Amino acid sequence: MKKILANDGIDEMGKSILEKAGFTVITEKVAQENLVNRINEEKYIGLTVRSATKVRRDIIDNCPGLKLIGRGGVGMDNIDVEYAREKGIIVANTPAASSVSVAELVMAHLFSMVRFLYDSNRKMPLEGDTNFAELKKKFAEGSEVSGKTIGIIGFGRIGQTVAKYALGLGMNVKAYDPFVKSASIKITFFNNQSIDLQIETVSLEDLLKESDFITLHVPGGEIITKKEFALMKPGAGIINTARGGAINENDLIEALNSKKVAYAALDVFENEPMPKKELLTHPRISLTPHIGAATNEAQERIGIELAEKIIEALKQ
Ligand code: NAD
Repeated sequence: MKKILANDGIDEMGKSILEKAGFTVITEKVAQENLVNRINEEKYIGLTVRSATKVRRDIIDNCPGLKLIGRGGVGMDNIDVEYAREKGIIVANTPAASSVSVAELVMAHLFSMVRFLYDSNRKMPLEGDTNFAELKKKFAEGSEVSGKTIGIIGFGRIGQTVAKYALGLGMNVKAYDPFVKSASIKITFFNNQSIDLQIETVSLEDLLKESDFITLHVPGGEIITKKEFALMKPGAGIINTARGGAINENDLIEALNSKKVAYAALDVFENEPMPKKELLTHPRISLTPHIGAATNEAQERIGIELAEKIIEALKQ
């Protein structure tokens, strides 16, 4: 019997595609420390994870029957990918499935920032009935995004999807990516008409100096520190939905407190699942708990893509 353990869950559609192809899919959550034993006892040949379960050398070395590790999502920093592949284990992820959801969350944060929705939503339940006029004054002086410049750092799948939405809003797009010189952005309308716009990438320095808003879509690394904040326009806004640590968190707090940066939005944090309190309580940060890909549509696409990859990889 071909058994798969979907340790961080899998969308129903993906599960049923696998079952129709003859796999048994178990979605029970096994604690990290019990995984090796359970995989061996139950003779699982496939293990799928999202970001919670870690697949390190202990599992790779001690589960000889494991043929495939599947990651529902993009980032694979919770899996020792190279080591697993050296040992002959197939490692598959679903890179394209969540781009739209992450890019839409970026736009949600952008609108939240420019109209102070993150703070208004905190204050209105407490003071909306006693202090309405004061709050109205406090949250005045928002700005429009149309006509402003958005700087996109990392011009891959998600970065280019953000560019599409930003262009649709009449924003100027600057992109930086050491590996992408230019990209053709297809803007598709509801009736399937579309137009293509060519975006040439610029240097990081130009992007930092000229952008009103900056959004990060890199696979990792520390991209924004004190030095980069110093180059930004006073009053810029910054969004991180990529990886915790892509913006140095202490430098961000300093940039916010000195008003160099007007506001920030974070979906990812250095020490998840316990982000710094100073970030969580900061009055000028729009916050979400790493939900970039957490939409019904993205999860369904992830489940289907993962199921198809598992069937293809383990078809003999
Ligand atoms: P992608 O591989 O398509 O694009 C990443 C781009 O970053 C590539 O074009 C690469 O050339 C570029 N890059 C690499 N190093 C760079 C650097 N130092 N400076 C600038 N650009 C650099 O990946 P993607 O699908 O667009 O995903 C981007 C990020 O989003 C990943 O970190 C991924 O983990 C993250 N993500 C987050 C969520 C979430 O829930 N918040 C969900 C999905 C993906």
